[in-house]
Amino acid sequence: MRTGFRFLLTLALLCLLAPSLAAQERVDAERLLTHVEMLAHDSLQGRDAGTKGAAMARDYLLSQLSELNLQTFDGGMEQRFTFPHRRAEEQREGVNLLAYIEGRVVPDTFIVVTAHYDHLGVQDGEIYNGADDNASGTSALLEVARHFSDHPTDYSLLLLFLDAEEQGLRGARAFVADPPVAQDQLRLNVNMDMISRNTENELYAVGTHHYPKLKPVLQEVGERHDIDLLFGYDQPDHPEQDDWTMASDHGAFHEQGIPFVYFGVEDHPGYHDPTDTFENITPEFFVQAADLALDAIYSLDKQLSTVAPNLTK
Ligand SMILES: [Zn+2]
Repeated sequence: MRTGFRFLLTLALLCLLAPSLAAQERVDAERLLTHVEMLAHDSLQGRDAGTKGAAMARDYLLSQLSELNLQTFDGGMEQRFTFPHRRAEEQREGVNLLAYIEGRVVPDTFIVVTAHYDHLGVQDGEIYNGADDNASGTSALLEVARHFSDHPTDYSLLLLFLDAEEQGLRGARAFVADPPVAQDQLRLNVNMDMISRNTENELYAVGTHHYPKLKPVLQEVGERHDIDLLFGYDQPDHPEQDDWTMASDHGAFHEQGIPFVYFGVEDHPGYHDPTDTFENITPEFFVQAADLALDAIYSLDKQLSTVAPNLTK
């Protein structure tokens, strides 16, 4: 009887504890999807850098971030820069948003987690909503911020919402040219750009060709998740695959010799197309991809001195 009772008690306790423990390691699916719906809404007019729609996206991000316990650098949460807009053929102002979560063990060294919030705006009267590209990564970054503000990492996490990626990685280049801390304190970049739309359940981790020490950790992370984490798209002379090394903001970090891992999906029919809408993302895949990215940040932080050693010290 006693053994049976204890067994039942243990079982009951496990049932009570398991969901909350699991929830700690996961993003909140409903909130994640709400962010994408808001950021990809028609009213934001495709979030073209330097427009009112981009400013509306920033207002949304800042209102979400204000709920969290984040640290800010001396310059505040906004980093302004000018860039030549491709289509408009004029100089415009872009604005990156940044904050950080102080690391518990090595606070003066940073993992920079990035996602660009800008997209292509309105062209020929059609709104390019950019739900996958890149309301998805931006939303995941909000939830990464929320999670780790409650569960700080060993190293500091710099949360960086980048502008003007579609104009040639302009926000990322402005950031690495003038970071709020010394550049050698930036140890790793984790970039998310297009992580919400895939029917094959496949997410890519790009960059391990250049930084092979990252691969074993990412492979372990991949094994813990239901979606398939694939590697590739980072070799210059691959006969069948493009090279995405410079395809998004991580390229600006790579140019400075800062290791990166980029999470993204294969190109799809909605890529740089007006059909990249909230209705066309694959929500279940997206939630799992965001969970995986969060887990990767957690795991890379735990092994940062091995996977991204500081070569300058
Ligand atoms: Zn993008």
